Amino acid sequence: MIKPQVAISSCLLGEQVRYDGQHKRSPLVVDQLSPFIKPISICPEVGSGMSVPRAPIQMVSKDPHSVNTISLQQVDSPFQDFSADMEEYFRKQTDRHKFTAGLISKSRSPSCGVTDTPVFTESKKIASGSGYFVRLFQQKFPQVPVIDENKLSIDEERHRFLTCSFALGRFYSFKQLDRKIALSSFHSQHLLLFQSIDADKSERLSAFLAQSTVDKGCEHDYLVEVSKLLQQPFDIQTALAAFEHFIAQPNQFTKKKLDNTSHVALSQLLERLKYRTEDLSDPCMFYGSITKEVNALQLNELKQNAFFAPYPDKLMWRNREEI
Ligand code: SF4
Repeated sequence: MIKPQVAISSCLLGEQVRYDGQHKRSPLVVDQLSPFIKPISICPEVGSGMSVPRAPIQMVSKDPHSVNTISLQQVDSPFQDFSADMEEYFRKQTDRHKFTAGLISKSRSPSCGVTDTPVFTESKKIASGSGYFVRLFQQKFPQVPVIDENKLSIDEERHRFLTCSFALGRFYSFKQLDRKIALSSFHSQHLLLFQSIDADKSERLSAFLAQSTVDKGCEHDYLVEVSKLLQQPFDIQTALAAFEHFIAQPNQFTKKKLDNTSHVALSQLLERLKYRTEDLSDPCMFYGSITKEVNALQLNELKQNAFFAPYPDKLMWRNREEI
C-alpha cells in the first residue's frame, strides 16, 4: 500500500522546538502512525525565524467582534508582530506541500492549532479557531484533511482522517498519468467507498466527472468534494446497502467478474455484518472487519478497491486494541 505524505508539527515528532525548548512527543504519531506514512516535520514558528527558546506568542484580533483580522503577536510585546514572517514562510513552503495528503497539528498552538487556538483582543479571549499557519494551509489546500493530536486519539476521527489521507495519497500516486486517466482510475477505485458513506454525493461526483472538461480546476473541485465526503459521519445502513449493491452488481465497480467462490464468500460476509449492526456502528469496526475478512479469505483482487482496504489494516485498531 502507498505511504501518503503527511505534514506533522515537529514538536509532536519529539523535536525540541517549542517556545520553552521542550517537545510534545506523541507516541501515537511517532510509534503507531509514522511507519505507515511519509512524515514531513514542520515547525512554522522556527521556520519563520523565531528562536528556541522564545517568548510566547498569541493570536490577536483587532476587532473585538470578529476574528477576520488576526495577527500573530508576542504576548508581552504586541509590537512584535510575526504575521508577515509566517506568511512569507508559508509561501516558500507551498511547493513542498503539493503532494501532502494530511496535516497532523499541535492543538491550541497559535500557529498549529486546528480548532481550539484562543484568539484574544488586547485584554481578553474572544473566540477559538485555527492557528495562523493552519489557516493559511487550509485556504491553500482545502482538500487536505487536518487533525490535531487529541482528535487523532478518537477512533472515528482518526478513521476519517486516515481514510481521506490515504485516498489523496493514492490520487497523487496516479499523477504521472494523464489527468483524465488519473481521475477516472481514482474514481473507479473509490466509488464503492464513496457510496458506502454517501450514495447521493457519490452519484453527484460521478456526474460531475462525466460532465466536466477535465482540467486543473475540475481536479481541484473534485478533490475538495471527495475530501468532504470522506470526512462525513458514518452510517452503517448506508454502508451495508452499498456493499449489498456491490455483491449484486460487481461489474459496476470492477472490470474483473467476481468468481463464484468470491461471490458466495462475500454474500456470507454481508449476512454476518447484518447481524452485527450495533457493534459495527463505529466505522473502524466496520471497515476493519471487512478488511480482515477479505484478507483471511485471500480475496486479493478486491484489495485494489479502496472500500476493502481504505488504509493499512495494521492501523485499524479501536481504542488501541486490534480489531
Ligand atoms: S506547535 Fe507548531 S509552531 Fe509550536 S513548536 Fe510545535 S510545531 Fe512549532
